[in-house]
Amino acid sequence: MIETKMIREQYKDDYIELQKQWRKHSKELFLVGKLVYWAYWVSKYAEKCKDVEERQHLFSLKNKAMLLLAKSKHTQIRKYVPEVNKKLCRQHYKIMKSKHRNICWFLDAYKQDLLECESCQMGEEQYYNLYSLAIIDNLEKEKKKLLYIFYNPYLLLSEQFPVLEELKSVKHFNGKEYGTIRASGKGTVDLDLEDGFSVKLIVKKFNQNYEELREYFSA
Ligand SMILES: [Zn+2]
Repeated sequence: MIETKMIREQYKDDYIELQKQWRKHSKELFLVGKLVYWAYWVSKYAEKCKDVEERQHLFSLKNKAMLLLAKSKHTQIRKYVPEVNKKLCRQHYKIMKSKHRNICWFLDAYKQDLLECESCQMGEEQYYNLYSLAIIDNLEKEKKKLLYIFYNPYLLLSEQFPVLEELKSVKHFNGKEYGTIRASGKGTVDLDLEDGFSVKLIVKKFNQNYEELREYFSA
């Protein structure tokens, strides 16, 4: 317990430091940074959440954030379009789960099997296409650094987001989102959520910062 408390204190200190850096740059980066920080926590919790209702709620918050963040000049939208992208049949889904690897690995490694499987070929089209949202800190090319990266199902955002033909493909894709949580910029992935903030606090902070950024864009 003591350890958890110390880790939370460290997260808090780092968050304060990150806000200072963002604020120095611009008001927009300050507001974007704060929302995206909490959206990252929301996304991490959503991935791990076992409760269906809560999980859906967290994913809907994430979705909302993506739509708002898309308006910022700090956001770059790209696409991930696997060669095989129809929804897997039940049997292949089971096989995928048993491999304990991410979906993009499976789609590639089992490409031939999936193309030959009649049930898979009847699956929903474009199912595994993704949009990636990268948040960068600096708008100058030489100085820019990646702060966050999110992946979102194409089918969920396709009505509001650019058509795929207009977008570049992601350079690397390993299925994992990325977030600057540490002020040092290091060790930001694979957070042990036991040591993170409570979901209640995360949602509260998310909502506050969502409203702030929404107001900024509608001003
Ligand atoms: Zn199949």
